[in-house]
Amino acid sequence: MLNTWIPPDRFLPWRSSADLVAMPDRAGTLVIVPVGAIEQHGPHLPAAVDTVILMGVIGHALARLPDDIPCQCAAPLCYGKSNEHIDFPGTVALSAQTLLATLAEVLDSLHRSGFRKVALVNGHGGQPQVVEIAARDARVRHRDLTVFPLFVWSVPHCAASLFDAREMQYGIHAGAAETALMLALAPQTVRMDRAKAEWPRNLPAEGLLSMEGARPFAWLTHDLTESGVLGDPCAATPEKGAELLDSLADGWVRLIGDLHRFQQPPA
Ligand SMILES: [Zn+2]
Repeated sequence: MLNTWIPPDRFLPWRSSADLVAMPDRAGTLVIVPVGAIEQHGPHLPAAVDTVILMGVIGHALARLPDDIPCQCAAPLCYGKSNEHIDFPGTVALSAQTLLATLAEVLDSLHRSGFRKVALVNGHGGQPQVVEIAARDARVRHRDLTVFPLFVWSVPHCAASLFDAREMQYGIHAGAAETALMLALAPQTVRMDRAKAEWPRNLPAEGLLSMEGARPFAWLTHDLTESGVLGDPCAATPEKGAELLDSLADGWVRLIGDLHRFQQPPA
């Protein structure tokens, strides 16, 4: 069904207009908007990885969220700004301008529907900047709207206890962590017989520049990897995936509680 891992009673598109009119505290209900992507993830994973992991993590968190925290998950945006992957078939990329305009209109629609607290939860490492701008711009348009631009991986989780330091630094795409989560969430889509490690090539040899972080360079995925993989997917197991999923879901339960309690100073 359309709600994937989201419990049906937490999935906003399953509500009717009449349900929303009757909703006791629309203004105080947190709405999560999943912002995913469809982009290549190497030969062993499907293009839907970022959207699947996002819906899986949010779904597992909402399943264990206390009943007294009002929170609904909106329909996901499955397409994102994935133009670093355009050299690989299967990638469907929106421009930054299109994603920004889409997020603005989704936020305006939720505000028009009476919601005043929205979390944009991004699942793709190539678009946090767009999500942050969309959140700030919506706050400028709607002084009574609280918007949180967030990343699905930004909660406390146990990946560093499951994978080695090299994986944690360079395994940023279709590596051990994403492959393990896919083995836990959608094992029928994973081809471990094609899984092969690849580490980023053409990195600055020394000095202050790095692949990501404070002093990066603007790379296309093809600059760094032939296969589209960055990291070692062979280090993934379904058990590690289940453990990582569990810790991410717990992190999100904590964070959603904080979002629920947060009160923006009145404008
Ligand atoms: Zn990914």
